[in-house]
Amino acid sequence: MLAIASAAIPGHISANTTGFMPSASKILDDLVDEFGAISGVAEVPTGEEAHDLNHLGMLVGLGHELKIAINVDHLREALERTQLARHGSGPGEQLTDADLQALSELDAHPALRSLGDRQNDQAWTRGDIDNDVEMDRALEILSLLDDDDIKARVGAAERYRPDYDDPRQMQDCPVCGHQTLAPTGSDGFGYGHTAGTCVVCTYR
Ligand SMILES: [Zn+2]
Repeated sequence: MLAIASAAIPGHISANTTGFMPSASKILDDLVDEFGAISGVAEVPTGEEAHDLNHLGMLVGLGHELKIAINVDHLREALERTQLARHGSGPGEQLTDADLQALSELDAHPALRSLGDRQNDQAWTRGDIDNDVEMDRALEILSLLDDDDIKARVGAAERYRPDYDDPRQMQDCPVCGHQTLAPTGSDGFGYGHTAGTCVVCTYR
């Protein structure tokens, strides 16, 4: 919260060099003073333009600033509830899933953005493991097909080829090597890759 306050509030006391560290509840007060709060939620600007995907799956700017919603009422209540435990002065209430949710929402602010990156890293690692299993499965199916079967399936793949004006095209399958990976999703990042399913070996 300190990082967000010093980025979002010009001249905020957290940005000074006296070593003074305002309390979390003081920072929540400062955010509400600066940006207001509606139903206990403060909208804090990020200094970045908001983006969205258009109908082609391309990232486009929306022409207004991206704000993140900070649930100040919830965080304030959680601070009070966990006060004893956090200061080591006795048993207190544990953090709840809702507390962690409210904290992880702060991470959308560009002053932080570390939790999300870490979660993405973990998702990539999980994705790699899933992909190994998926490749084994597709290889097993491929081993059941003879040359005629494969030829027939490569021919059938023509039916799944996107229209000439579709930016998505058939991709090479990493398992069977045929250009038979039919796109099933949109190219959200504009990298020329989409989710797809192989018409020959069924690799996804
Ligand atoms: Zn394949």
